[in-house]
Amino acid sequence: MEDVSLLKLGLTEEEKKNYDKKKIEFNKRVGNLQKVSRAEAKNAQCFICGKECSSFCNSHSVPQFLLENISVAGKFYHSGNLVDMPMVDKDKGLNEAGTFKIICRDCDSSVFSDYENPEAYYQKPTDKMLAQIAMKNNLKSISKRQFEINLYKNMGKEFGNPDMMSGMESISSTDLKEYIDEFKYAKKACNSKWEDNYYLSYFESLPYVVPIAFQNNIALVSDLEGGTINDIYNPSSDYVIKSIHLCVFPLKNHSVVMMFCKNGENRYSKFFKQFRKLSTEEKLKVINYIIFIYSEDYYFYKGIDQEILGNENLKDVAKTTPLSFATNPDADSLAAAKDTYDLNKRDSIPNFLSETYQVEQS
Ligand SMILES: [Zn+2]
Repeated sequence: MEDVSLLKLGLTEEEKKNYDKKKIEFNKRVGNLQKVSRAEAKNAQCFICGKECSSFCNSHSVPQFLLENISVAGKFYHSGNLVDMPMVDKDKGLNEAGTFKIICRDCDSSVFSDYENPEAYYQKPTDKMLAQIAMKNNLKSISKRQFEINLYKNMGKEFGNPDMMSGMESISSTDLKEYIDEFKYAKKACNSKWEDNYYLSYFESLPYVVPIAFQNNIALVSDLEGGTINDIYNPSSDYVIKSIHLCVFPLKNHSVVMMFCKNGENRYSKFFKQFRKLSTEEKLKVINYIIFIYSEDYYFYKGIDQEILGNENLKDVAKTTPLSFATNPDADSLAAAKDTYDLNKRDSIPNFLSETYQVEQS
């Protein structure tokens, strides 16, 4: 469980030993804290329309019609299975994995309708579709951060380590503010008559069904030539982390891969320029690597489970978290992070976006 390993990093040697001994009891306590924190993080209103809401929609980040294309008998795998071992029996049904609950049913069924339409992917997406995707990505991040802020507060109390936890809490609060700003921008863009709110840096239509489904915002640390994109350890509260949106959509008979950001967001210009020079194969490798090393939230087809579970390199890559570098105050954390997240290591894991791993049509 990622929250447990997060906490582990903040414990002394003695506490770590203690932790290993009392793992079961500990996990139970953390489980309870998560439950309490989730309840405390619950809003009173729908985040989109602002109406009072008592029963929120269980919104999927990746639309169901895409997940269906990588499922076998209604089941597919979620990356939680990689990090949270043992994972073999942990395939999830269509209704459980990667969902968030901060908007009402009416909004969930109307606000995303342009992009949640399989017919829309035979050409480049419209600006409105990108705005809807960005809006959903930010909603999901907002929901996650709201939960984390409460969780850190409660963990600090429960485990008597309030200083470390309040540090985490303030990082989450800064993030939350940024996600809310991005959400507002996206919401406005959804209703804008202009087609220039987002910059589509990459769009690829592949003539086969890829075994991965993904939709999220990601803050890259470095570009393809070792340049810094986001200084993720910058302590200034004025420094804002900037994200790109990445999508890998498996459709009925083809797939679409996209990368975009807010228009005028120049922190990514160099990276986009470097990326554009790569061959299609290398581009797909980069996207594939970004998903596995930066994200904890992708879905995959059961047919590649052995490939994923049996590959030690891939498991290591999938378990990377930026917090691992922040434990030694004297170390150059950013340099270490840039080395770890170096996209030129992309050949160390299988490229699931290549034709080799396509979903077998039934
Ligand atoms: Zn609503």
